[in-house]
Amino acid sequence: MFTRLYLHIPFCRRKCPYCAFVSQESTAADLDGYAHTLLVEMGLAAHAFRAERPLESVYFGGGTPSLLDPRQIGRIVERTGDLFGLDREAEITLEANPGTVGLERLAAFRSAGVNRLSLGVQSFHDPLLKALGRIHSAAEAREAFQAARTAGFTNIGIDLIHALPGQTLPMWRSELEQALALGPEHISVYGLTVEEGTPFALRYGADSPRLPDEDLAVAMFEEADDILTAAGYEHYEIANYALPGRRSAHNSGYWRRDGYLGLGCGAHTFLRQGYGVRFGNPADLDAYADAVAQGHLPHGEGQRLTRQDAMAEFMFLGLRMADGIGESGFRQAFGIGLDETFGVALAKLTALGLLEAAGDRVRLTRRGMLLSNQVFAHFLP
Ligand code: SF4
Repeated sequence: MFTRLYLHIPFCRRKCPYCAFVSQESTAADLDGYAHTLLVEMGLAAHAFRAERPLESVYFGGGTPSLLDPRQIGRIVERTGDLFGLDREAEITLEANPGTVGLERLAAFRSAGVNRLSLGVQSFHDPLLKALGRIHSAAEAREAFQAARTAGFTNIGIDLIHALPGQTLPMWRSELEQALALGPEHISVYGLTVEEGTPFALRYGADSPRLPDEDLAVAMFEEADDILTAAGYEHYEIANYALPGRRSAHNSGYWRRDGYLGLGCGAHTFLRQGYGVRFGNPADLDAYADAVAQGHLPHGEGQRLTRQDAMAEFMFLGLRMADGIGESGFRQAFGIGLDETFGVALAKLTALGLLEAAGDRVRLTRRGMLLSNQVFAHFLP
């Protein structure tokens, strides 16, 4: 059914004005109560669903999971092992906001079993951090990174955002260079998307002249590709770069359609049953907590995928990865060849220079990565 576990922590010290994730500002009491609810939900889930084998990854995402007390994280990791089994080599990631962690807490997270840190740096430029409403400065982000190293983390990822208001190409180059100077194992590079319903959507409407135009956004994507690959990072997914052997196992599982159980408010689950079943927990914290308090798993009915749905997912998730998708993997999953299924679309996208063949695999070109949504639309049922 699943080999991975995702836990959503929907709390932040302060809500960033660009953020559309399920998260809200919190108190210590909220966090305590929530950690308890998560453990209860985990017990309910263990009765309903079985892991295929000891879990290969656990991911605390948010929100700001680093607001949790390290003892709470320790209890959740321990209970995960008790209920589902945890592979000895399991990757256990914690997303951390640099404004919430010092050496002591980081060392305690490490002792609690966390072995990979994903640090939400976003920018090394203080005015941009301020515009993003982040609670930390660039210096604090650097300090958090160094403290994580001192605390024993040997696998650290940094998140950066480009196409920010007022950001120029030289500024973006400097962001990348400052990230490289820290020597992280993993760098994620996201373009800013102005999400509906956020304060940023009011501030920067469609085609706002204060945001980099499309050409500049493309140049920033290409600059990241050039600079980071020249520094030895593999551009292994549209937005992700890693040193050899340091790809995110958990996120790679999403793109390969591994099964995962999602616990917590707003978390999503994908179970390997038939062609796959997807369902999600309510994004409303009270609705989530009330259901669990009454002894129910809080998710709705969910969607049982058809063969066509699963084939489309195989394509648009698999193609996110630079390795692309393999003819043999597709045939093994669906008993039919890629060409017989998507031959027309593949030929058209290849002719447009958006896809390319590599042995028996098909992958996005760099231009295809930039226009990935247009590529993926060709595979939808
Ligand atoms: S810290 Fe992250 S999850 Fe929290 S509000 Fe900011 S962007 Fe959203």
